[in-house]
Amino acid sequence: MPTLCALCKVRDDLKSSHIIPEFFYKSMYDALHRFHLIPSDSAKPEQFVQKGMREKLLCGGCELKFSQWESYAYRTFVEAHGVHVTHFKNRILLQGIDYGKFKLFLLSLLWRTDVSTLSFFDEVDLGPHGERIRLALLKGDPLQPNNYPCVLTAVTIDGVFFPDWHVPPTLAKYDGHHVYRLLVSGVLFMFFVGSHPPPQRLGVLTLNTKNEMSVAVEEIRNIPFLSDIMLTFKARNARKN
Ligand SMILES: [Zn+2]
Repeated sequence: MPTLCALCKVRDDLKSSHIIPEFFYKSMYDALHRFHLIPSDSAKPEQFVQKGMREKLLCGGCELKFSQWESYAYRTFVEAHGVHVTHFKNRILLQGIDYGKFKLFLLSLLWRTDVSTLSFFDEVDLGPHGERIRLALLKGDPLQPNNYPCVLTAVTIDGVFFPDWHVPPTLAKYDGHHVYRLLVSGVLFMFFVGSHPPPQRLGVLTLNTKNEMSVAVEEIRNIPFLSDIMLTFKARNARKN
């Protein structure tokens, strides 16, 4: 039965859309292995959530638009096509990532978590920013680098990256900003949502119009909210066994 497409608002038969692109689950392991973050014998911890959450959200045309940005993100971020990778102590610099395409991909991910009715994304409420991002996505406008920037962090435990770990989005406050934190396949996405520019020191990490972006590499013990979740998870499993 035709229903309103969440992006273009046209009544149509909707596709069953992924909220989090499937390739994240399938390929993050390969990508981070390529970036030399995962020893090949790393043990895999239990997953927190099931993969492949889908929801009827988009018409065929809008689904195609999203899939083009996803394909680009896959080619660059996962397959490292056309991307120059440089390792620093606590970050990996990626050069040659198309600002417009990758930013639209990141915005589409943030927006999907807002419009989704799945309970996994309950904590995301972008308020008026949701509509602003919807209109930008509809026009294919990536906005400015300091509009809704995203910091990506590969989380390690004693130096080992675990790609099978997912944590639902949670909201935090940082320098007057709303920050949505979502862990997908061991990579933490932190989206800064607010009307004023984000803290300047983020600039070295977030995607810029010189087509550069860094992925921070951080030990879980330095990320308190994730350490807490990990401890709760361990305690719950210990009680079960
Ligand atoms: Zn549509």
